[in-house]
Amino acid sequence: MKSVLIMCLVLSSIVGSLTVSAQDSETDAETGASEVTADFTHPDDLAESYDVIVIGAGGGGMAAAIAAKDAGSNVAIFEKMPILGGNTLKSSAGMNASESKFQEAEGIEDSNELFFEETMAGGHDTNDEELVHYLVDNSASAIEWLDSMGITLSSITTTGGMSVPRAHRPEDGSAIGGYLVDGLQRNVFEREIPTFVNANVTEILEEDGAVTGVQVNIEGNEHQVNAKAVIIATGGFGGNLEMVTDNNPDLEGFVTTNHEGATGDGLVMAQEVGAQLVDMDQIQIHPTVEQETSYLITEAVRGEGAILVNKEGERFFNELDTRDAVSQAILSQTDSSAYVIFDQALRGRVKAIDQYESMGLVKVGDTIEELATTIELDPEVLSQTLSIWNDSVANGTDDNFGRTTGMEIALEEAPFYAINIAPGIHHTMGGVKINTNAQVLNEADEAITGLYAAGEASGGVHGSNRIGGNAIADIIIFGRQAGEQSALFVN
Ligand SMILES: Cc1cc2nc3c(=O)[nH]c(=O)nc-3n(C[C@H](O)[C@H](O)[C@H](O)COP(=O)(O)OP(=O)(O)OC[C@H]3O[C@@H](n4cnc5c(N)ncnc54)[C@H](O)[C@@H]3O)c2cc1C
Repeated sequence: MKSVLIMCLVLSSIVGSLTVSAQDSETDAETGASEVTADFTHPDDLAESYDVIVIGAGGGGMAAAIAAKDAGSNVAIFEKMPILGGNTLKSSAGMNASESKFQEAEGIEDSNELFFEETMAGGHDTNDEELVHYLVDNSASAIEWLDSMGITLSSITTTGGMSVPRAHRPEDGSAIGGYLVDGLQRNVFEREIPTFVNANVTEILEEDGAVTGVQVNIEGNEHQVNAKAVIIATGGFGGNLEMVTDNNPDLEGFVTTNHEGATGDGLVMAQEVGAQLVDMDQIQIHPTVEQETSYLITEAVRGEGAILVNKEGERFFNELDTRDAVSQAILSQTDSSAYVIFDQALRGRVKAIDQYESMGLVKVGDTIEELATTIELDPEVLSQTLSIWNDSVANGTDDNFGRTTGMEIALEEAPFYAINIAPGIHHTMGGVKINTNAQVLNEADEAITGLYAAGEASGGVHGSNRIGGNAIADIIIFGRQAGEQSALFVN
C-alpha cells in the first residue's frame, strides 16, 4: 500500500506546518505528543468500496473507526482538514465518567444514577433520557477501553453542575485534547485503517432508503465510494457563524472557541437523506473565553478553586453552577465580562495555565492588591473578596452564592493571577437524532438503514445545556457504539 509516511512528533510538527490557531498547537505542546508515524493514506490507494465509511476524524470518528475495525469490518476514514482531531484537539477539562476505577482509587464516591440525574438537571430535563442512560452506564467501561489502548485518564477534576469529581484527564493534569487525539490517532494507524485527509465528503448516497456510500472530494478530485454503512462524525457547527445565528439569532456578535472545520456539513448531508434534526437552536455559550483570542479558559481552573469577580472586584455567582447560568450571570455584569482569579498553588494543579501565560492572557501581582491595581480594580475590595472567599473555603460553606465544589483549597499563595473573560459560542447541542444503537432516525423515528452518527453531530444527549466533560464522554461512548453497531450490521 502506498502511503504518506511522516516520521515525526505527529501533533507538533503536523499542526505546526499548517495555518491553525495557536490553541491547537499549544494544546499539543501542553500534553506532549508522543513519537508516532503519521500514516495518512495516499489518494491513489482509495478503494471502490468499504464496509464502513467514517466521515470526520475527531474523537468520535476515530473511536468509531477503531471499534468498527476491531469488530472485523473493513473501515475507512475521510477527514476534510489536513490533520485529524477537530474540536476534540481543543478540548481541555476532561471526560466525565462515573463508577470508574480511577475514581475508586481516589476514594471518590459516585454512581451512574447520580451522574444521570446531574446530566439531566444540567440540560433542564430536556435531554433524551435513553441516550443519557446509555452514556452514564457505559462511561466507566469507556475509560477502561481508552486505558486498554494506552490512553490513561487517571487524574480527576470537577466541572460545573457536577457534585463530585468526575472529569477524567491525563495523569499530569494537562488538557485532555492533544493527549486523546494523539492516542486515538496512534491506534488508528496501528490498525492500518485507511485514513484520507483533505477529503471533503459532500453527499451521503442512498438507494431505496438504504445508505450506499459517499461522494468525496480528495485533494481536488471527485470520487464516489461505496459502503454498506456510513458513520457521520463530522462534529458540530459552532465554527459556522451563519448557521449559528440562523438557528439562534441572539448569538450575533459572539466569538467562537471552535475550529474552522466545525461547519455542520454532516447535519446538512444527513437531512438530505431524510434524517431528523433535534435541538438545533440549543447552542452553548461557554462562560470563560478570552475575547481577543477566542481562547477558552478551561473549567478546570474554576474546578480547582478559582473564583470569578466583576469589574467592581466582587464575586457575583456560584462559579461552578451550570454553564448557561454562569454565562448569563457574567453577561449581566459591567461590560458583560469578568475576571478569573487564582493563585500560584492553583497554577500548579492546572497545566493549561502555562499556555495562557505564554499567550499573554494572564495578569500577575505579587500581592492581591498589586494584582487589583494591574487590572484596574479597587485593591481594598478585591482583597476583601478574597478574604471572604478563603473564609468560605475554611468553613466549607459559601453563604453568599451556595458554591459547594472546587472549594477544597484556599487562594492564598502569592503571586496572584487574573484573566479577563466573557462568554463565547462553544458547543452545538443539537444535531442528527439517534437511538442508543447510534442509528440515525428519520422524521418518523425509524432508523435509516446503514446510517449511524456519533459525537457533536448528533443531538439529544445534552438537551438545552451541556455539562463540561460530557462531550468527550459522548463522542467516545457513542463513537464506539456506532463503530460496533455498524460492524454488526455489515457483517
Ligand atoms: C476549546 C474547546 C474545549 C473543549 N473542552 C472540552 C472538554 O474539556 N470536555 C468535553 O467534554 N468537551 C469539550 N469540548 C467539546 C468537545 O471537544 C467536542 O464536542 C468534541 O470534541 C466533538 O468531537 P467530535 O468527534 O464529535 O467532532 P470533532 O472533534 O469536531 O471532529 C469532527 C471532524 O469532522 C471533520 N469534518 C467535518 N465535516 C466534514 C466533511 N464534510 N468531510 C470530512 N470531514 C469533515 C472536521 O474537520 C473534524 O475534524 C471542548 C470544545 C472546544 C471547542
